[in-house]
Amino acid sequence: MPSFPSAARTALIERLKQNGIHDTHVLDAVLETPRELFLIPRLHLQAYDDVALPIGRGQTISQPTVVALMTQALEINDRHKVLEIGTGSGYQASILARLCRRLYTIERHKPLLIEAEEKFKSQRLHNITAIVGDGFAGWPIQAPFDRIMVTAAAPKVPQALLDQLAIGGILVMPVGGVGVTQELRRVTRLADDLYSSVNLCGVRFVPMVPDVAADYDMDQDHTILSHKAEALA
Ligand code: SAH
Repeated sequence: MPSFPSAARTALIERLKQNGIHDTHVLDAVLETPRELFLIPRLHLQAYDDVALPIGRGQTISQPTVVALMTQALEINDRHKVLEIGTGSGYQASILARLCRRLYTIERHKPLLIEAEEKFKSQRLHNITAIVGDGFAGWPIQAPFDRIMVTAAAPKVPQALLDQLAIGGILVMPVGGVGVTQELRRVTRLADDLYSSVNLCGVRFVPMVPDVAADYDMDQDHTILSHKAEALA
C-alpha cells in the first residue's frame, strides 16, 4: 500500500472538524482508515480530498464529510450490532467496523463485495460479515440491529429496514429521487410502532436498485449459503 504524507490525512481531519464533525471516535476512525486502499491507483493522489470518487460499476465512494456525518449521526458504540446497505468499496464499512461490535453489510454487486472483503482482511477487520443480496429486504435472520446505515438513496425508507431496527435504534439514509438532492434522514425507533424522524442535510447518492445485480447468478453461488449457515451457527 502506498504511504501517504500524514499531512494529507490530518488536513482532512481538520476539514471534517470545520464541517461539524466533533465526535472524536468518528474522527479517529476516519484517520485510521486508509482511503487510498479503496481507490484505483490513478485516483490515489485524491484519496484525502473531501470529494466523492468513482469505484467502478457506476458506483462511488462517498465524500469523507458525508461518511463522517452519517457515522456521527448513528452515535455508534462498541456494543452495537450494525447493518450497512451498499458495501460498495468497503470504505464506509471499514469506518463503521472500527466503532461497533459487529457489522453486517449487504451489496448487490458481487465483484464489488469480493474486493471489499479483501480490503477488510488487509486491515485486519474481523468483525464484518458481508453478503451479496438485496438491501431492500435487509437481513431478517440477524435482526434486530441497533443501528442501520443505508448508503444509497430511495424514495422512502424500506419497510423491512424499519422492522429490523431495534427499539431505541437509529437508522440513517438518503431519502429522495434519482439525480436530485436527497434528504439525509435520521430515524429513531421509539417503540414497536413509533418512529421519529429528522432531516439532517441535503446529499447526493446513487439510487438503491432492487434485486441482486445481473452480473451475478445467485443460484450458482455457494458463498451466500455458507454465510447464511455461519449466521445461524
Ligand atoms: N458505502 C459505499 C458507497 C456506496 S455507493 C462505500 O463506502 O464505498 C452505493 C452502493 O449501494 C453501491 O455499491 C450499490 O451497488 C449498492 N446498492 C444499491 N442498491 C442496493 C441494494 N438494493 N442492495 C444492496 N446494495 C445496493
